[in-house]
Amino acid sequence: MVETKVLTDSSVFGQIAEHQHEQVVFCHDHETGLRAIIGIHNTVLGPALGGTRMWHYASDAEALNDVLRLSRGMTYKAAISGLNLGGGKAVIIGDVSLKNEALLRKFGRFVQNLNGKYITAEDVNMTTKDMEFIRMETKHVSGLPESMGGSGDPSPVTAYGTYMGMKAAAKKAFGSDSLSGKRIAVQGVGHVGTYLLEYLQKEGAQLVLTDYYEDRALDAANRFGARMVGMDEIYDQDVDIYSPCALGATLNDDTLGRLKCQVVAGCANNQLADENVHGPALVERGIVYAPDFLINAGGLINVYSEVVGGNRQAALTQTEKIYDITTQVLAKAEQEGSHPQAAATRQAEERIAAIGKVKSTY
Ligand code: NAD
Repeated sequence: MVETKVLTDSSVFGQIAEHQHEQVVFCHDHETGLRAIIGIHNTVLGPALGGTRMWHYASDAEALNDVLRLSRGMTYKAAISGLNLGGGKAVIIGDVSLKNEALLRKFGRFVQNLNGKYITAEDVNMTTKDMEFIRMETKHVSGLPESMGGSGDPSPVTAYGTYMGMKAAAKKAFGSDSLSGKRIAVQGVGHVGTYLLEYLQKEGAQLVLTDYYEDRALDAANRFGARMVGMDEIYDQDVDIYSPCALGATLNDDTLGRLKCQVVAGCANNQLADENVHGPALVERGIVYAPDFLINAGGLINVYSEVVGGNRQAALTQTEKIYDITTQVLAKAEQEGSHPQAAATRQAEERIAAIGKVKSTY
């Protein structure tokens, strides 16, 4: 889960300045042992929304690097999806065994102190129950269960958006967006991966999959009529589409040369180990890449519906637009001679700049 690429300037302010983060809050509590970092990247479009992740980081620097990269990704995800949200993320440092009610509620108080500038949600190693504890100390929590008036599990909506983005990329690569008969390799069959497999099976794709947990992979293989392969073998499959739905940075120096696909489209965050190296490398290899933060935005769109008082159907309707946005971004990248991740980032930045000007008068 941890992003390993360390930013070039290792000083704290150097790192914060590198991608122009607005505010970074270091939270410490002696009694509960809480050590957390809240990263607020950009709030031009609205409050910074993004989940809280708990992870046993090897160092504080690694935790800071993770929260900075993740919060920046949230800014672009919201902006390109047309949401009035900024980008933020939080990390709690430590093993999940340290998690308890007091620690989570103390964290909730730090979130409350930001007065709504940052809205938190679930992320890796955080459960619905944990969010309920945080909610006891702050109202700035989203992604709550439906029973608490929230928008519920975002994974099905994320999967739908990923499916839409995959179809748009398939249209670009193969001339048709039909996935019928397409050979698709899915890496990671967790929450989102499983919902995605449902769409792919329904459309008649030929599926191959893997997961860190062999029993999970086996269950999914049986359920969706897929072939199961080992974790490392997934990169060597003779497929049309590779769909990374597990961890970040799986498109790297070691894996890229092994891919035989013509499309990469998955839900994992930060798939390119180094955007500036592996984005262009995919283009050179003739692989159509559907930008991760664009096609996995369904979950955020679902949470946004909770913030603005929408519902699941409205979220799905908006998520469907990921198809058109992906089509536009792929065309733009080609026209500009850039790569899709860069084109998507620029499109997000252009919206932030334009709306920032709208807000410049009272
Ligand atoms: P998850 O934890 O439910 O599923 C991830 C799966 O990947 C697990 O089954 C895990 O065992 C497997 N895995 C881990 N390492 C692996 C490896 N090296 N090879 C193969 N399998 C491996 O998570 P999720 O909610 O399904 O999210 C998947 C990805 O999508 C994550 O990167 C997440 O950040 C991203 N994402 C999720 C959502 C959402 O709505 N849940 C939204 C946006 C982005």
